[in-house]
Amino acid sequence: MVGGGVGGMVAALLLARDGHDVRIYERLPRLGGKLAEHRRDGFTFSIGPSLLTLPGLFLDLGVPLDLLELDELCRYRFADGSTLSTCRDPERTAEAVDRLAPGEGPNWRAFHRWAARCLDASTRTFFAGPPSGPVVEPPFRSAGQRSGDRPGGPAGGRPSGPLPRPRLGDLLAVAPGRTLHALAARFFRDARLRQYVDRYATYAGSNPYRAPAALGCVPAIEHGDGGWYVRGGLPRLADALAASLDKAGVEIRLETEITEVIADAERVGGVRTALGEAVRADIVIVNADAASLYGRLLPDRARLRRIARLGLSSSAFLMLAAVEGRTEGLPHHSIVFSADYRREFGDIFDRRRPPEDPTVYIGCPAVADATQAPAGAESWSMLVNVPAGDPGRWPTPPEAYAELVLDRLASRGHDLSGRLRFLDLLTPADLRDRYGAWGGAIYGGAYGGPLAPFRRPGNRGPRRGLYLVGGSAHPGGGLPLVAMGGRIVAALARRDFPRSTRRPEEARR
Ligand SMILES: Cc1cc2nc3c(=O)[nH]c(=O)nc-3n(C[C@H](O)[C@H](O)[C@H](O)COP(=O)(O)OP(=O)(O)OC[C@H]3O[C@@H](n4cnc5c(N)ncnc54)[C@H](O)[C@@H]3O)c2cc1C
Repeated sequence: MVGGGVGGMVAALLLARDGHDVRIYERLPRLGGKLAEHRRDGFTFSIGPSLLTLPGLFLDLGVPLDLLELDELCRYRFADGSTLSTCRDPERTAEAVDRLAPGEGPNWRAFHRWAARCLDASTRTFFAGPPSGPVVEPPFRSAGQRSGDRPGGPAGGRPSGPLPRPRLGDLLAVAPGRTLHALAARFFRDARLRQYVDRYATYAGSNPYRAPAALGCVPAIEHGDGGWYVRGGLPRLADALAASLDKAGVEIRLETEITEVIADAERVGGVRTALGEAVRADIVIVNADAASLYGRLLPDRARLRRIARLGLSSSAFLMLAAVEGRTEGLPHHSIVFSADYRREFGDIFDRRRPPEDPTVYIGCPAVADATQAPAGAESWSMLVNVPAGDPGRWPTPPEAYAELVLDRLASRGHDLSGRLRFLDLLTPADLRDRYGAWGGAIYGGAYGGPLAPFRRPGNRGPRRGLYLVGGSAHPGGGLPLVAMGGRIVAALARRDFPRSTRRPEEARR
């Protein structure tokens, strides 16, 4: 396994439980990849994911998580000062939408029904196998479906059950050829609600004016299965996965970079480390970015060109701040929108500069978890979407851009003067260096066009025994999707290499 991010860890765990001898090579001194943490002066920040959806994907593997469900999924603040608060219950959310924009509540209900059909179709197809079929995995179960199951799920780790059957209408249900913004415009007259739908493109680091409408299935996940937090911070998920790997007998080599995938024209033969050591293996799974595989580890110009055509996902400018005192009524997750979303995404994806008027995500885990900040204070992670690509070319002094963001927040109801102290500012170059993110892209490849889901790198590589897992490969980035990718890769390897090198009982000891 090249890389120990979440997708790689899930695949490694399943293969070890199948009886394979599995070794993970990770170039950083820790597992988890983008699921990372930063601590300073008693404040704790997740510098990667802050929201967990579909935790059942991990619980089904027997990964123990101390979960906390969010009462309020997110509070959106629009440029005109109005707000929308969403929660798991679709009916309450529809009522909140109707209060914001009278008459739009029924449209939200219709949008939610569309999202549920799209999710259903994706679960039977896109999430259950590689992009060009076949379906290899039974559908995941929601947190609700799990109640009453014994811990670890059937067979101590994998959901069992019949494989989903694609239906004739599945392709139509995902609205192929339509962009997310076009979908938003189909359901809502109110520009604020279109902006709210458009934001779901950022869950995949993409541009809503180009990304496929299928990203509109995300609200069905949030309003069906809820939004979750892991007590102690989301990076505890990486710790729990690491403990499960240890139990399953997976060998971990930290601070060991892989520089080459050894292969002939037919099959892989192993990997080479940065120290020149050649290691033999029948199966090589790459959890590094696909661009890094085809650009460096196993050069392949044609595939690299195809990835470049899809484009990189956005990167992030992260501001980690200590805030004195408690902010009355602040929820765990807030979005403070820009006045002009089209211009903002034009800045990020076309003009390739940090947006002049950015949308700001504010994460404040101290709302739910006292371990994240000293008593009477809050740790704020603020994130602005910015271009990836050449992180060395970040054009603005980070301090100046952070001040611009604070000014924007102050003019939109979050005046933090005298209370906020920046503890760290992370630019795309930091994300590249700390996460190994190719070009600083936080989700790998973007969904660069309505048909992008079908054009992303698949999970089987161009040699026998070579597989890809993680944000830049099918089905995409975000914790649940990379976990689905891990399941798909393990299922493919199970089909391709049915005989394991060790007996399962031995592997689980
Ligand atoms: C700021 C930010 C916010 C996010 N917010 C959310 C969120 O709220 N919810 C959500 O679900 N997702 C979120 N995500 C996305 C989520 O973190 C990622 O999609 C997911 O963690 C990526 O997992 P992965 O399997 O692709 O592996 P990665 O995390 O990309 O890990 C790959 C690993 O491979 C290692 N590696 C690379 N090359 C080599 C090599 N040659 N040799 C050895 N090791 C190598 C890297 O060091 C890294 O550890 C966020 C991401 C970021 C950056």
